[in-house]
Amino acid sequence: MSGLLEVAGLTKRFVAGGVRFAAVDDVSLGVGAGETLGIVGESGCGKTTLARMILRLTASDGGTIRFEGRDVTAAGEGELRALRQAMQVVFQDPFSSLDPRWRVRAIIAEPLVNLGWDKPRIAARVAEVMRLVGLPPDYADRYPHAFSGGQRQRIGIARALAPGPRLIVCDEAVSALDVSIQAQVLNLLRDAQAQLGLALLFISHNLAVVRQISDRVAVMYLGRVVELAPEAELFDRPLHPYTALLLAAVPEPDPALGFRGARLEGELPSPLAPPPGCPFHPRCPVARDRCRVEPPGFAPASGRRWVRCHFPGEIDA
Ligand code: SF4
Repeated sequence: MSGLLEVAGLTKRFVAGGVRFAAVDDVSLGVGAGETLGIVGESGCGKTTLARMILRLTASDGGTIRFEGRDVTAAGEGELRALRQAMQVVFQDPFSSLDPRWRVRAIIAEPLVNLGWDKPRIAARVAEVMRLVGLPPDYADRYPHAFSGGQRQRIGIARALAPGPRLIVCDEAVSALDVSIQAQVLNLLRDAQAQLGLALLFISHNLAVVRQISDRVAVMYLGRVVELAPEAELFDRPLHPYTALLLAAVPEPDPALGFRGARLEGELPSPLAPPPGCPFHPRCPVARDRCRVEPPGFAPASGRRWVRCHFPGEIDA
């Protein structure tokens, strides 16, 4: 899988109440052309900050982001324009992410206007992407309030597809939708991906949703990736205790996985005061003395798997 997006050692620090803390800490991952990488973790784990840095909506404090070999962090205005065409985003809330005062035509056309396309080309492209997402082009003169939640998210996807991106970042893109509508929107994303050869960076707190669409999955905890693996391997045999406990918490887990009812206990610690050693140790059922003092590194496991744990695969959740 060729490296479309390569992130290495990416870090973002914020200051809150006079305390400097890492919202994203030394994250390394890649997305291949046409691939879907899922990023999953509890609210506050840093996944949205990571996405915003990749899109250059938030500045990074360290590390590198390369898209098609170009350094995103060092991109000047001209290069950033090209990058913004190539990397698009679909946000969580289809109700607030579309301007209610704008007709659908103007919403979808906005990135094309910014790119300097002429009117006939924009009109043709708007109709084309509306068809692609299953919306009749003659709906283009309507306002967002005339559409259901699922249709509004289709408009958001049409807008993201319009400039012909190679990567779409989906930030909790189906979280606000009912389960049946979620499935339709996931199918739509998969179809568009297959048709256009798109890569997706699919961010969600919902492991079941991530499983449906991802080729590989990165699990984040307190700003760090703790496990990165092909989807089937991660779900069949999680190596990190946090992954195993997240899986155990998914309703109706596959009985073949052999979970014995272990549950993720306790709250996500404050990133302002992360626990010493392995930051997961206060919640880890298999933590040992070493875990309380020595942070584990992110190390290759079998095949294409990486894990950040001193004792990977030991949990029997
Ligand atoms: Fe648990 Fe130790 Fe692994 Fe951290 S390093 S996840 S505490 S076993």
